[in-house]
Amino acid sequence: MDASIKTEFMSRYDLPTPEPDSPSLSRSRRPYAFSTLCATVENPNSSHKDQHGSSSVPIYQTATFKGVGGVYDYSRSGNPTRTHLEHHIAKISSAQHAFAVSSGMAALDVITRILKPGCEVIAGDDIYGGTNRLLSYIRTHMGVVVHHVDTTDANSVLPYLNPGKTAMVLLETPTNPLLKIIDIASISALIKEKCEDAVVVVDNTMMSPYLQRPLEHGADIVYDSATKYLSGHHDLMAGVITCNRDDLAQQMAFTINSVGNALTPFDSFLLLRGIKTLAIRMDRQQSSALLVAQMLSKLGFKTHYPGLPNHPNREVHERIADGYGAVLSFETGDKELSERIVGATRLWGISVSFGCVNSLISMPCVMSHASIDPATRAARGLPEDLIRLCVGIEDPADLLDDLQHALLEAGAITLAANDFVRIPNAVNKAVEKLADMQPRNDDTRDREWFVSAPGKVILFGEHAVVHGVTALAASVDLRCYGLSSPRDDGKVSVRFTNIGDHYHEWNIDELPWDAASPIPPGEAHADVLDQRLVDAISQRALPPAEDLPPKTHGALLAFLYLYMSISYKGSRDRPSFHLQVKSTLPVGAGLGSSAAYSTCMSTILLLLNTRVSVPPLPVPSRSPSHPEDPGHIHISHQGRRALPPDVADEINRWAFVAEKVLHGNPSGVDNSVSVFGGALAYTRPGFGKKSGTDPIQGFKSLKFLLVDSKVPRDTKKLVAGVAAKKMDEPEAVGKVLEDIQSIVDEARRALADPELSRDDLLSALSTLIDENHVHLVSLGVSHEVLETIRNKTAAQPYGLSTKLTGAGGGGCSVTLIPDNFQDKHLRELVALLEKDSFQPYLTAVGGSGVGILSPYNDPHRVARYGNDPMTPPDTPSPEEYDEHAGLSESVLKSEFESVAHEDFALWADSQGRWLYV
Ligand code: PLP
Repeated sequence: MDASIKTEFMSRYDLPTPEPDSPSLSRSRRPYAFSTLCATVENPNSSHKDQHGSSSVPIYQTATFKGVGGVYDYSRSGNPTRTHLEHHIAKISSAQHAFAVSSGMAALDVITRILKPGCEVIAGDDIYGGTNRLLSYIRTHMGVVVHHVDTTDANSVLPYLNPGKTAMVLLETPTNPLLKIIDIASISALIKEKCEDAVVVVDNTMMSPYLQRPLEHGADIVYDSATKYLSGHHDLMAGVITCNRDDLAQQMAFTINSVGNALTPFDSFLLLRGIKTLAIRMDRQQSSALLVAQMLSKLGFKTHYPGLPNHPNREVHERIADGYGAVLSFETGDKELSERIVGATRLWGISVSFGCVNSLISMPCVMSHASIDPATRAARGLPEDLIRLCVGIEDPADLLDDLQHALLEAGAITLAANDFVRIPNAVNKAVEKLADMQPRNDDTRDREWFVSAPGKVILFGEHAVVHGVTALAASVDLRCYGLSSPRDDGKVSVRFTNIGDHYHEWNIDELPWDAASPIPPGEAHADVLDQRLVDAISQRALPPAEDLPPKTHGALLAFLYLYMSISYKGSRDRPSFHLQVKSTLPVGAGLGSSAAYSTCMSTILLLLNTRVSVPPLPVPSRSPSHPEDPGHIHISHQGRRALPPDVADEINRWAFVAEKVLHGNPSGVDNSVSVFGGALAYTRPGFGKKSGTDPIQGFKSLKFLLVDSKVPRDTKKLVAGVAAKKMDEPEAVGKVLEDIQSIVDEARRALADPELSRDDLLSALSTLIDENHVHLVSLGVSHEVLETIRNKTAAQPYGLSTKLTGAGGGGCSVTLIPDNFQDKHLRELVALLEKDSFQPYLTAVGGSGVGILSPYNDPHRVARYGNDPMTPPDTPSPEEYDEHAGLSESVLKSEFESVAHEDFALWADSQGRWLYV
């Protein structure tokens, strides 16, 4: 471009600062108010008077202009109607430069062309979906790094500032549709201080220049989707950009002319016309919006609107904006209910977008935000049941009436005592409960959580279960224990002591979150694992599989998979903690050690993410034994306090997911037993029978000697062997399977029979154990070591019944120990087995499922440790805190680490009141 053309170009596109057209103070008249500025459109160039004196700006519907050296030659480069509009926008925005382009997204496109490959952008994590899409495109095609950050806390951008690299910070406030408030003034100041070259860009669409002028608060560039409030009638698409920096204006003017996305003359005319009524429309819209928000909030719906008294960061909004706007949203607690409400409105039009004179209603997750994948929506805390309302200029009484009718028709409210009241719904309650459990400043995160879960033993029906026979499984008294201790260094770490002594830690922010699809509370994980996440963890967060023992690799993979799927909230809320796992269960012996680990892990992750909670503390009362201590909490409840079934269900769902990571295609028996304890019958689906798990009521705890043969086995091979045998000898194997089913039925009957004497029960079970073992031998899944154990236990003077349990081919056996079996004989037998290098465990089956150590200051612990709420401890004091390790040191933690394996169960029991399922 030669110099003269360049000057000409700049004079056309880099608009001069419009002088305020209102009378200046020197003339001792007050400046015009905003609504006056809106309504009065001046000629940007007073030397070019309209020849006819038209009072509205004419539409110069022409592509070209005749002559050489005039101000205009080609409408892509400049058009008088557009110039009027741009001048007007600059005026009402207190801006030096303004540009009008073909849409809000076109505006952002123009702005982001300032970026260069390799530079970095920080953007809010709750921004308009289209913005998100464009940023993703820039990231993948232009090599620009984009960080999405929860900007509701100004300081959260700090870790992402990279002087010399950070080129742009993109903010939106209030956000749409959750109306989160961002302090653009503080963030702009922070950026100017730490990264002066970075350009602060604000999407001001939700507010319009009437209610918020971010340039006055430190932003460098502001853009609006003028499709919304500026035009006000949903009859055009447009975007406007304003800024005060000449260099940026020049760059953007160049881009607009180059790509040709400037606003057409006709649309410029329409937009100019719309802007004239901006203030008056907005006044009406936002006053009605406040009425609607107040009505919904009064009815008990969780309502998001900055005009409501307890809206988060309301004071920030009031500092930077002149009004609350006309968009609000509310939650019903039930997606289907929300759909019914939206469908039942008449006056409120179902439509995307906002800012129109007509009121609109929509469900963002189904409509405007559907382009954001569900996992990201969930991660951003966007409720699927959210309804967004964009209030128009209709009579507010009509709007309220229509909405009330829709709520009524949909079954969300009812009329009681002449007033509308909300009908509580189950899901709603669950959601509220979860909301109540949000960490905010509560101490869920700062506590230690000590949990345990039992292993399982299959008493009858193993192998046959694969072919449709019911299996009977019970919990064993050997447990896996997990202790989580808070960290505050942004890391998460695990230590396993049973599968070698392995310690691993990760920086939470460096985990492959881009591949994660966190599941929001209340939603189930898909049936199949997210292979993308599995691969990303394996490739980017774990050492190569061949450098780790396979069991360690699996355990770490399952841990990270669950951690990244359960931590559904924004990055600020991901728990930083250390998890230690110890198991008194032999690992790999078929006793459900992986399910017990999965259960512990999922319990801790659900607690830390406040997706489940322990039952509330009983109402504090003055303890008669501590009258001098009014703060002492007296738990009058005798016996154990149980964990609620919905907590157990949620733990079980996630334990099953972890089991899938560990085993591919688990049956679900192991995790169910581990979570619920007791005993259950399980039948696989697909055999024309009632399938699923069925708890065995009244299961009487039984004593068993579990013997780990220490011979490793290959479960898959053993299962495949039985399948092959069934193919070869269908009749014989079919008969065996039928017999096993009868054994299981008989055992179930006996266990549940209240009339049966204990002696008769034990002898019936002994017989069934022997029979079942014989069948397993015929299926080819026993092993000589198992037969050795069986013979030793059957020999006199013991005369006990033993069968293999689980897959066989090594692994474990179970021997039923009658109540009257002599201790002396038991000790002898144990010694005998140990002599042969087997590992016997005397255990009870049918006991408790998952347990959580009471987080409350229970009397048991007080007696032991004094009035010190040891478990979980208070947030570690600075002295207790080892800064280098980022870990808190509590007595519990150090004892967990040091107590010997054989004493561990006793020690864990002695810690206090366990809450069991
Ligand atoms: N920014 C916000 C906040 C929006 O809501 C929208 C559109 O809905 C845009 C930008 C994009 O504007 P347009 O649709 O005019 O391209």
